Amino acid sequence: MGELLDALRRLQEVERQLAGLRRGEEKRKRQIQSQKRQIAKSTELVQQKQAELRQNQMEVDRLELDLKSREESLAKHRAALNKAKTNREYASILTAINTEKVDSAKIEARELQIMSSVDGVKAAICQSQEQLLTLNQRLAEAERQSQEYIEGTRERRSELEAERERVAEGIPPATLATFARVAEHHDGEALAEIVRLHPKRDEFVCAGCHMKVTLEIVNALQSRDEVQSCDACGRLLYLNI
Ligand SMILES: [Zn+2]
Repeated sequence: MGELLDALRRLQEVERQLAGLRRGEEKRKRQIQSQKRQIAKSTELVQQKQAELRQNQMEVDRLELDLKSREESLAKHRAALNKAKTNREYASILTAINTEKVDSAKIEARELQIMSSVDGVKAAICQSQEQLLTLNQRLAEAERQSQEYIEGTRERRSELEAERERVAEGIPPATLATFARVAEHHDGEALAEIVRLHPKRDEFVCAGCHMKVTLEIVNALQSRDEVQSCDACGRLLYLNI
């Protein structure tokens, strides 16, 4: 293999390793983002439950006030009962007292109902807050690991970047541009090996797309150090011999 194709293969290898480092970093960033989204969701849930709790408390306060005024009214009616002058008056006050008792009982029942749901809401808040604590710990750990990865691979990355520059110097700019364009189309893989289908027959295919490669291309690669593209996929071809 000639110098040019050799340089292109080296470039491909360096790009592959750099892409691996980038993927490692992106994977960690995605984990952090996903944990942040979970935290936001949990925080919103806690806030909703806290608002619900405040609503319940306000409702209980209102019912308490209502109950108190009914008790005052009941006391007045009881006092009036003792001073009733006629049976009719007595009966009418008694009816009012009974109605108030029934109403008060209803209010008390409603109050109890709210109070018991308050316990449930409080427990849910507690649970969500505990979950938030765990999520925040996990986020801190993910951020630490991501930072560790970036720092741990920094040296390797700058080595690879330096090597990329060094290798690129030996490649004509037009070929570099072709390499970059093809790499973009094929997920970073600009090169493809030519594979011989049968040891005794001159039948070759591109390992990238498995389409036929002409004998002219194979001959050209064997005799000259120049770039040949696959007619089907455009990848830059090389012979591994
Ligand atoms: Zn191809």
